[in-house]
Amino acid sequence: MAAAALRQLFEGLKAYKGGDQRVRLFRPWLNMDRMLRSALRLCLPSFDKVELLECIRRLVEVDRDWVPDSAGTSLYVRPVLIGNEPSLGVGSPTHALLYVILCPVGAYFPGEALSPVSLLADPSFIRAWVGGVGDCKIGGNYGPTVFVQKEAKKKGCEQVLWLYGPDHELTEAGTMNIFVFWTHEDGALELVTPALDGIILPGVVRQSLLDLARTWGEFRVTERKMTMNEFLRALEHGRVREVFGSGTACQVCPVHRILYQGKFLHIPTMENGPELILRFYNELKMIQYGTKAHEWMLQV
Ligand SMILES: *Cc1c(COP(=O)(O)O)cnc(C)c1O
Repeated sequence: MAAAALRQLFEGLKAYKGGDQRVRLFRPWLNMDRMLRSALRLCLPSFDKVELLECIRRLVEVDRDWVPDSAGTSLYVRPVLIGNEPSLGVGSPTHALLYVILCPVGAYFPGEALSPVSLLADPSFIRAWVGGVGDCKIGGNYGPTVFVQKEAKKKGCEQVLWLYGPDHELTEAGTMNIFVFWTHEDGALELVTPALDGIILPGVVRQSLLDLARTWGEFRVTERKMTMNEFLRALEHGRVREVFGSGTACQVCPVHRILYQGKFLHIPTMENGPELILRFYNELKMIQYGTKAHEWMLQV
């Protein structure tokens, strides 16, 4: 029977094959936590996170030959949970379907050249709002963004910088979390990313970059609001070093231009190495491909 699917949520994580031919999943426990939170928010059935992860582990084990092993490649894992209610009413679901798709993926940056992207920052488009569901990976947050993505392309940008509120807070870049590495007004070298205040998707890579940077302890690491005014001032004063997005697809992705209020702002990310971006990229790679043993990895 056809279903009036009002509810859809998904996850995205990757399995990596190391030089030792072992396959490992990157922090899958965090994806299970997030998926369960999305399910509860949509009134879809809850599930046993340990059991689902074990199912995914077994699935990847069965398909281990499909995990590519050349540089930068991986097996993308996409768990999905949908309500497939055989009725038209908007009520509590009685039918749901949970499935997991696997797909081998190539290197996001072929040849390891971290090519930068440009972002359209137009406050007339809003991805998520306070009291909404921006912090859940649910289908309704993504379908409407394709239109905005097309607007960005028309204006010569690759992705969207989602702004929020009257003071144009920077929130996310496309389907990536956003980071700024700069010298703060108070003179401190700082890595800053928006706090998880409900409109930010709690990215697994976001959390991992924060964790790594805090372990290094070499500069201040802050989660808080950041406005366009604050950012423009820093840019003007030459305090901005690197701007980048983070997410499972790319891990880290440099930003070199932002189109804001009709003007292209040049961000000196590439001129600055990009030192921090490359350090994060290499550190994650060593962990994910098993060069460096780490508790973040689940061996399949
Ligand atoms: C998935 C996603 C991210 C990145 O999350 P990861 O767990 O790091 O892949 C960031 N922002 C949005 C809006 C997302 O959908």
